[in-house]
Order: sequence, then C-alpha cells, then structure tokens
Amino acid sequence: MSELSTTLIHHPYTPPAGFKAISPPVYKASTIIFPSMAALRSRDWKHKTGYTYGLHGTPTTFTLEERIATLEGGKFCTLVPSGLAAVVLVDMALLKAGDEVLIPDNAYGPNRTFAEAELAFWGIICQFYDAMNPADLAAKLNQKSRLVWLEAPGSITLEFPDLPALVAVVKSHNASPGQAHPEGAVTALDNTWGAGLAFNAFTLGADISVQALTKYPSGGADVLMGSVVTNNEALQQLIHFCHMRVGYGVSGNDAELVLRGLSSMALRYAAQDAATRQLAAWLQTQPQIAAVLHPALPDSPGHTQWKRDCSGAACLFSAVFKPEITQLQIDRFCDSLQLFKLGYSWAGPMSLCVTYDMPKLRVVKPWPWQGGLVRFSVGLEAVADLQADIAQGLARL
Ligand SMILES: *Cc1c(COP(=O)(O)O)cnc(C)c1O
Repeated sequence: MSELSTTLIHHPYTPPAGFKAISPPVYKASTIIFPSMAALRSRDWKHKTGYTYGLHGTPTTFTLEERIATLEGGKFCTLVPSGLAAVVLVDMALLKAGDEVLIPDNAYGPNRTFAEAELAFWGIICQFYDAMNPADLAAKLNQKSRLVWLEAPGSITLEFPDLPALVAVVKSHNASPGQAHPEGAVTALDNTWGAGLAFNAFTLGADISVQALTKYPSGGADVLMGSVVTNNEALQQLIHFCHMRVGYGVSGNDAELVLRGLSSMALRYAAQDAATRQLAAWLQTQPQIAAVLHPALPDSPGHTQWKRDCSGAACLFSAVFKPEITQLQIDRFCDSLQLFKLGYSWAGPMSLCVTYDMPKLRVVKPWPWQGGLVRFSVGLEAVADLQADIAQGLARL
C-alpha cells in the first residue's frame, strides 16, 4: 500500500463516459505524460499533431485555435497571452537585424513603441507611413523591407485605408527583381476591429491577421489573449517555432472564457455596431463637436473604402471638439459621464471613453484638427441611456 501522498497523485481517474456537454472541457497542463521513451523521442512538435508540453498547447487551446482560424477564414492559428503579444510575435518571427518594418502612422500605439524600443535595440529599422496614401508606402518600401503592418481602421482616429491598394503596392514591390527583400515583404493586418466579422483579411490580401481576442471574441473585459492567423504554411512555421522559443503560452481557463465568448460574438458585434452608429450620428449634430470619426459616416476619412470592403463597423467612434473648448473642459466632460467609464480597451459590456493628445501621436503628417479628441467605446447598455449620459456631459461644458 502506497503512502496517501502518492495515492492522491496516482489516482485511477477516468473522465465520465456519456458526458457530452456543449462546452469543450478545460484541459490544464504543464507536464503531459508520454507512454514510452520511444513516444517521447518521436513526438512531432513541428505540426501540432500531438501534445508535448502545456506551453505548446492542450486540447482546449487547440480547439480555440481551430475556431479562431475558422472565424478569420484562415488555416493556421497561434494563441498568445495578449493582443500586443500577437503583434510582437509577428515582429520577432519575421524580422532580423538589418531588416525594416513599416507601420501605419495611425497604428495601435504599442505596436509602434515596441518597434521604436526593442526592434531598434535589435538593429531593426522602423518607418512610419501614411495609411491613407498607398503612394507613401510605395515610396518607403526598399530592399530591406521585410514586414508591412496594416490596420483597419486606424487606432483612435478610425480612418479606413484602401487595404487592397496597400497590399497591391507590396505585391508589386515584391515582384520587381532587385528591389525587394530576398524573402519578400510580408503584410500583417491588425484585425482586432474587424474581428473576422466585418471583412475577411485574407480575401483582401493580407498574409497574416492578428487579433486582440481580449476585445470581441472574449467580450467580457476579463481576459487577455491574442491570435496570429495565416494561410501560408511557411509563415506559420516561422511563427510557430518563434512561439515555442519565446514561451508565449495561454492558460486553459482563459481559453475557456474566449471559447464561451465566441458563441455570442456575432450578436454582440451587430448590437454594439448599431448602437455606435446611432450615437455617432447624433453626436455629430451637437454644437460643441467639430467632427465625429466613424467609418460609416460619409464625411469620415476612408468611408468609401469601408463601404466597399466591410459589412460591419464595430463599437468605436471618436469626437473632435470645437477648438474653443479647452482640454480642461474636455477632461471635465469625461469626468462627468456616469455610464461611460474612463478606461482603455473596448468591446466589453461596459461603455468607455478616453481622451488622446493627437498631435503628439503623428509623425508622418500633422494631425489636422485643432480641438481635443475623445474616443468612445460603446458597450451593451441601452443606447437611449448612453445618449442621455453624453448629453448631460455636454450640457455641463
Ligand atoms: C487592444 C488592442 C491590441 C492589444 O490587445 P491587448 O490584448 O490589450 O494586448 C492590439 N491592437 C488593437 C487594434 C487593439 O485595440
């Protein structure tokens, strides 16, 4: 008879037969036991056909990877601990010292700060381009350009770029002998806003699509995760090997939360989209506001491209205040909101807002507006209550 401490660990547990629940089970592991040394030696860690170690995947994370690949219309998916980690993984997997990365001037901020800090330390050059001007991208591509980031729409300011035109610029650059990087320039789209629902990243020509699953797929404002999806097996191998080397695992419990969120995602996307359009159109008519930025509004930059390429518009809009309204007044407006809470992130149940100092965030072209900007993220509250909340805040200005 073994000691109790041993018996408690080597317990003859088998999962219940006939227990066919709707949700996939949560498998958790660091160690995964091999039946023999021969099995351990012949494990296939290159193709995710088996399990080797929790960091490299469990049945729960593989299930989520398959569903995210399906959502995006891609073949391969790699999960990482945050949306930012998805951006960073693509950078690390593809870029070597001497290579160049191109980032839109209106990209998600931490994408650019990682490039300006770590990538610069590692000898990788970063250039910013005007996402609304494919000719600017064409002029900046060169023999060192290995990776071109795309984002649709721009973070905070929501300009919708001509994605097929930007992709065409990169493809034609790659096709000109002697002009392109020996391995070609790859396009990677930050698809967090579209979430795989508003448009298909691969139909529009991207090589890689990353998402912050933190946003729509989770939907709960309670989990951080990211994904990297591609159809290209060679790119997938670069991403997969880098992923294994850097130790970017995700936990089974977090994967469970995202799997649970996925089932209601399309409904949430549509509901938040409708409420956002309603609020954006109303706010545009308010006397304190110089402009509302939202790609479905006809005056918003890139509206034509959005209309051509998208079937949805997510839950974000930004308001530019008239120049006579000071930043102090705008701060007071934000402080006076009751339902819109002050905080980062979006696509959760609760509405949020944040002000940004736009002129400091642009290097390619000066920011065209004088007044301050507030970005709103619309949650799942009743739209009439949200409108009343903004109206009472405006009345205090
Ligand atoms: C939030 C966000 C990210 C980063 O996601 P985290 O999970 O918060 O790291 C990346 N890109 C975009 C466009 C985002 O909105």
